[in-house]
Amino acid sequence: MEKLQNVHFTKPVVDVIPLVEHFYSIQGEGKYTGTPSLFFRLGGCNMSCRGFGCVEKTADGDEIVGCDTVYAVDKKHFGSSWQSIKTADEFIEIFNSYNLPDDTDVVMTGGEPLLYCNDEILVSFLEFLISRHHRVTFETNATVDIDFEKYPVYKSCIYALSVKLSNSAEEYSKRVKADVFNKIINSADDTFFKFTVDEKSLHLSLDKEIQEILSKADKTEVTCMPQGASKEEVEANTHGVIQYCKSKGYRYSDRLHIRIWDKNKGV
Ligand code: SF4
Repeated sequence: MEKLQNVHFTKPVVDVIPLVEHFYSIQGEGKYTGTPSLFFRLGGCNMSCRGFGCVEKTADGDEIVGCDTVYAVDKKHFGSSWQSIKTADEFIEIFNSYNLPDDTDVVMTGGEPLLYCNDEILVSFLEFLISRHHRVTFETNATVDIDFEKYPVYKSCIYALSVKLSNSAEEYSKRVKADVFNKIINSADDTFFKFTVDEKSLHLSLDKEIQEILSKADKTEVTCMPQGASKEEVEANTHGVIQYCKSKGYRYSDRLHIRIWDKNKGV
């Protein structure tokens, strides 16, 4: 068991990167909420987080349970609609097609976008963005080991460390990798934890879990946001999470995109 806990997920060797969707919107969560941002949602994840209980229908009408982006996680059921990116130039072409204002933020999300952190396609695209002074944020579950020495461009990125709690229904050894998130905290320009919490579980056990994770973490900012895939669910958890943030001195993050666009994707 001890041995298992020290095994890190490393990226699969791939020659294409699956792109689920791209869209220009405002950042809806975390420290940079409200900032106009171009989102790239990459497909695939090393977790499934069925505990979040979101249901997505496939084209055939099957109901798949997972997180609110299960359509970007479950390749078997949704992968046929993902686009295959074979070169960094394809990413750059998409980026240029938006004709964005200078310095616009770019958000790499998923699924788990760092599954592809050792892939030259992604590395070259990041180098392109960073050299043009775009702020690049990775929304990550913080379990994928990044080689900052081999790929220094990752030091210039920002990481929203969305370490999963037991409400994800994933095993602890799979979702909490202290040496991985501490390496990111100590290597990158800016990082912050982003926990997804629901009011009911906060009173029961989630606070203990958050404290346990933070006791292993090097210092960085802590953000909490209300769980929910719909406006209704987010609203139901909002006040409890605000109270919790006030009591701990954490930053409250809304989920602006859900509050504004509810369950709509690509906004
Ligand atoms: S880690 Fe994130 S993207 Fe992956 S299944 Fe869990 S919530 Fe979804």
